[in-house]
Amino acid sequence: MSDKAAKHGAAGLRRNPINGKWTVIAPGRGLRPTDLGGASVPCPFCGGSEHLTPPEVDALREPGSAPDGPGWRVRVVPNKFPAFPEGHEVIVHSPSHELELEDLEPAELADVLVMYQRRLDVALCDGAAAAIIIANRGAAGGASLAHPHSQLLATSILPPLLQDELGNFDRHRNRYGTCVLCDAMDEARAPDVAGDPATARLVFDGPLVAWTPMAPRFPGELWLAPADHQTDFRQADAAVMAEGLQRALAATAATAGGAFNFWLHTAPAELRGSFHWHIEIAPRRSAIAGFELGSDMAICGLDPWEAAAILRAALV
Ligand SMILES: [Zn+2]
Ligand SMILES: [Zn+2]
Ligand SMILES: [Zn+2]
Repeated sequence: MSDKAAKHGAAGLRRNPINGKWTVIAPGRGLRPTDLGGASVPCPFCGGSEHLTPPEVDALREPGSAPDGPGWRVRVVPNKFPAFPEGHEVIVHSPSHELELEDLEPAELADVLVMYQRRLDVALCDGAAAAIIIANRGAAGGASLAHPHSQLLATSILPPLLQDELGNFDRHRNRYGTCVLCDAMDEARAPDVAGDPATARLVFDGPLVAWTPMAPRFPGELWLAPADHQTDFRQADAAVMAEGLQRALAATAATAGGAFNFWLHTAPAELRGSFHWHIEIAPRRSAIAGFELGSDMAICGLDPWEAAAILRAALV
């Protein structure tokens, strides 16, 4: 590769040779508009403002309604300021500016999950190595537009976090013959004090299980995964998963102080070992500071057993 090609690598994806960390250089993203903090930018994601976005790439629509007009329930548009030119989409949850995911009717939230599945399928069948879905809530969570939406990022490499997880799934299976995430759920279900479920890290059980991980990176960090070992989110029953996700997001929204992220990890396009899809919810009560940045280790100010009790108390 010439020096110039090395400087201007594919899709702006670059790796620091000293620490191995990947960076996406995305000039222009720093200029994207924000409507948090009172700026009066017209919202491009509201019903009736379809002309303010690039043409839609997918939507769930009322029969007879035309693309890029009203009549949609969930709408997908390319990100105007992409981190990845070919694989950065915005999934607008509903035409409503006010309703967060957990405020939607169960069938509406299921529609959003169906759209996640559809777009993941397109990305993974279209040559991406992996695709993740993320959502940012609140300014401290990195949100720039208030209208509730998620984003799909499809990448040509496996993101390092997913690669680390895949490695741990493999090592655990080779060593114990079981799924590391199924085992983690069982551990979270087991109370510290026999017979007292209040001493477990389980937040709720069901077809979708919610628990606080033993070693959280964020105070109140919550993980969700199907109780039955399932590799790929595209196989999930959206209506059943929507019910659990609604409870988990409502409990997080009630306790996280308005700022959190969540992301969905599903199997990459080519899975060699095993995987178990899951959603991680990360409350953002404090900024990521020097120690975290300088060590790649977290300091978590809330014990996960206590966090589970707080989240259980917030369940409706
Ligand atoms: Zn809006
Ligand atoms: Zn499993
Ligand atoms: Zn994960």
